[in-house]
Amino acid sequence: MSRPEATSSQAKPYQIYAIRYATNTKRRRGQNFILEAQPDALLTMDFFSWALVGEDRTIIIDTGMERARAERNGHTFLREPADGLRAIGIDPQAQTQVVLTHAHYDHIGNVDQYPNAEFLMPLAEMQAVVGPDMHHAWMRHAYAGEEIGRLVQYLHAGRLRLHDADHEVAPGVSIHVVGGHTAGQAIVRVLTARGWVVLASDALHYYEEYERGVPFAVAHSVSDMMRAHDRIRDLADSDDHVLPAHDPLLLQKYPAARPDLDGFVLRLDVPPRGIASIQAA
Ligand SMILES: [Zn+2]
Repeated sequence: MSRPEATSSQAKPYQIYAIRYATNTKRRRGQNFILEAQPDALLTMDFFSWALVGEDRTIIIDTGMERARAERNGHTFLREPADGLRAIGIDPQAQTQVVLTHAHYDHIGNVDQYPNAEFLMPLAEMQAVVGPDMHHAWMRHAYAGEEIGRLVQYLHAGRLRLHDADHEVAPGVSIHVVGGHTAGQAIVRVLTARGWVVLASDALHYYEEYERGVPFAVAHSVSDMMRAHDRIRDLADSDDHVLPAHDPLLLQKYPAARPDLDGFVLRLDVPPRGIASIQAA
């Protein structure tokens, strides 16, 4: 598909911050990749949420997971995602927009910490999480029913907008529904000073998926997941402009937002350091 018409004449670049709020150092490659040759080898999974900071607005991307749920699911919770926002001068209580890329529990927790936000989520994702697939334990295993219920309440309170397959949030920021990982998984395309960057969310967990062309093990549709790789390539200025959602290599490739935020808040709109993206042989 062709690129969306550039709104770049009016668009101003954004800074992109990633808040690393949890990690799981016990995760194994076989939990991540289908038909993995070394299924027992460890591959850490980090958990992030993001903030886009522009000249005249701030957009939050995903709200992370809740501490208690992280602990129940064997993840190491590091700090509240909202603490990361506050550390870079963003007030979670402000009237911001919060984009939810999909409804897995590690992306839509803590929404009550944004009491004045307008939430945006793909229509296809909402339809799927209240649809017949959720009758099956495997299909719903990364969702939390009470969190989905909260989003339904927000919808009925006029605080959640369900958007179509391609949606411009503001000049320079657009959401594109690619499916694959979930029925309504979205990616976010952002104009930065170095060009168009794609925050792939869980359309890519690791650089390795993209570089080896392998699907992640949690999938609604493997076909759509692989086609999402093509879409990401179309929308990003280069492979160096593609950002996976859970890769610990992000910590090596991108600098801390400030020296005192090392390991917690990263700056992703600057060019990456040239570090090989595939960790395991
Ligand atoms: Zn996910």
